[in-house]
Amino acid sequence: MAASTPGDVLPTRRDELIARLAQPVSYDIAIVGGGATGLGVALDAAARGFRVVLVESHDFSKGTSSRATKLVHGGVRYLAQGNIALVREALQERTTLLHNAPHLAQPLAFVMPSYHWWEAPYYGIGLTMYDVLAGKAGLGKTQLLSRGRTLAMLPNVQRNGLLGGVKYWDGQFNDARLAIVLARTAATQGALLLNYCRANELVFEGGKVVGLKCTDMETGAELPIRARCVINATGVWVDELRQKDGDANRDDGRRATKPMVAPSQGVHLVVDREFLPGDAALMVPKTADGRVLFAVPWLGKVILGTTDTPRHDLDREPLPFKEEVEFILSEASRYLARSPARPDVRSVWVGLRPLVKPPDDEGENTKGLSREHTVLVSRSHLVTVTGGKWTTYRAMAEDVLQKCFDRGLLERRPAGVTAHMRLLGAGSEGGAQSSLSQPPGMHSYGDEQAAVMAMPGAKKELTAGLTEGMVRFAVRHEYARCVEDVLARRSRLLFLDARLAADIAQKTGDIVRQETGRDPQTAAFGQLAAHYLQMPA
Ligand SMILES: Cc1cc2nc3c(=O)[nH]c(=O)nc-3n(C[C@H](O)[C@H](O)[C@H](O)COP(=O)(O)OP(=O)(O)OC[C@H]3O[C@@H](n4cnc5c(N)ncnc54)[C@H](O)[C@@H]3O)c2cc1C
Repeated sequence: MAASTPGDVLPTRRDELIARLAQPVSYDIAIVGGGATGLGVALDAAARGFRVVLVESHDFSKGTSSRATKLVHGGVRYLAQGNIALVREALQERTTLLHNAPHLAQPLAFVMPSYHWWEAPYYGIGLTMYDVLAGKAGLGKTQLLSRGRTLAMLPNVQRNGLLGGVKYWDGQFNDARLAIVLARTAATQGALLLNYCRANELVFEGGKVVGLKCTDMETGAELPIRARCVINATGVWVDELRQKDGDANRDDGRRATKPMVAPSQGVHLVVDREFLPGDAALMVPKTADGRVLFAVPWLGKVILGTTDTPRHDLDREPLPFKEEVEFILSEASRYLARSPARPDVRSVWVGLRPLVKPPDDEGENTKGLSREHTVLVSRSHLVTVTGGKWTTYRAMAEDVLQKCFDRGLLERRPAGVTAHMRLLGAGSEGGAQSSLSQPPGMHSYGDEQAAVMAMPGAKKELTAGLTEGMVRFAVRHEYARCVEDVLARRSRLLFLDARLAADIAQKTGDIVRQETGRDPQTAAFGQLAAHYLQMPA
């Protein structure tokens, strides 16, 4: 039975988590990185009965995992590239996720409008292939749409020259909330997870990695961890830890470790629903420069994106390039009758894709790089996993554990334990869910709504869809430590409307301070919100 009152919900008191970490436990697995990949491994390993610890240097999903386009998808684009295995696996995982977290991941109809006679049959055939690959995991059949039906589904679509469209099904999700739910579900399985705890060094014995030296980022205290197996799941930052793997990772004992990640930046612009009324997403299969563009209804707003631009730095809060913003707005104006302009943008955010480079690749064209994940085990037994996508986090976790078994780092335990494991809030089968396209509110909490409603201030709104009770729940039960954690990743307000998020930062901070007794970093959040409104001139 899922929890419904605060008494049933696992607390996430930081002093208790740190006291647990200070105990002289030897873990089976220590995971570095609390994004989709690391959290997925933590849940899978804990569910198989391993002793698991995970450390995240910032907040859970502060990296790429809160900045996705929010699609739970097989990847229509990868089908066009002929990557059948990747698409098939993702389609299976799509259905698994929709089933295990229906409050946070749901089916969504996508419409491709057609303006040339050949487009509907051409894309229709491709998408029928997509249905075939999904097999029993299909969410609904691809359909060719008349002009009238296309207009009914996309009321603001460009009418001039519109012939019809193609409708197909994929999913959408709330990425950062899913990350928190993965962390909390892993914790109910016995895993110890700590945000704001950075892994600085690897610890070696006899040439093998046997632990980590970590720092509590709030106090500066050193926190050593011992583990039989260390997993580097730090996304675009994996090479930093790999560099610390010393000679064990080098071919000849002298050359520096070759980077395995080529970061690529993706920009999203968020605008009001009036630009995409209706319940369907818009998909542009081929933009002017041959990419894919989406307009996705999400939590009462519309996400427009994304881009794919090589980047060499690994900024925590990368800024968009002017050309990327212009590209998204100009593509949107080709397909939307009333199209958004710069002043209509409520929030702009950027994510870094951890694309995996072939060992000899020095190239710049990230579009051609692998979207699949890679698991590497170094000579010292550091296990590095990166690449892939959110949709396949569970399959990636199974692959990581399989690699650990194959290399004799852990004893084998059967896979598949998370395939039917409903995540916290999912409740029992068949419960009514409201759509993720709807504005934020209690629906994000699934069957934990009663626990949130039992919090002090549960009926006191800070703004539509966010109550004082939700802020208290975020601190007491969802690991939140500062205003940013609450407004960016427990609530998604920063991503939806950065100005509004800045407006309620002070009130949010006052509640966070009451709960934690610490500075809630309200001023820093104000600067961050300004960053999410900043459009390059
Ligand atoms: C623009 C964009 C759009 C995308 N859209 C989609 C989509 O619609 N659907 C989909 O399925 N996928 C999508 N993806 C892919 C997906 O978001 C990523 O594959 C996934 O989030 C990567 O997760 P990760 O855990 O590997 O990395 P991250 O989420 O970056 O996690 C790594 C974590 O490691 C932490 N860390 C780093 N160094 C240390 C250290 N020394 N100690 C402790 N912690 C450390 C970081 O703070 C970070 O939180 C998209 C990606 C991008 C960039």
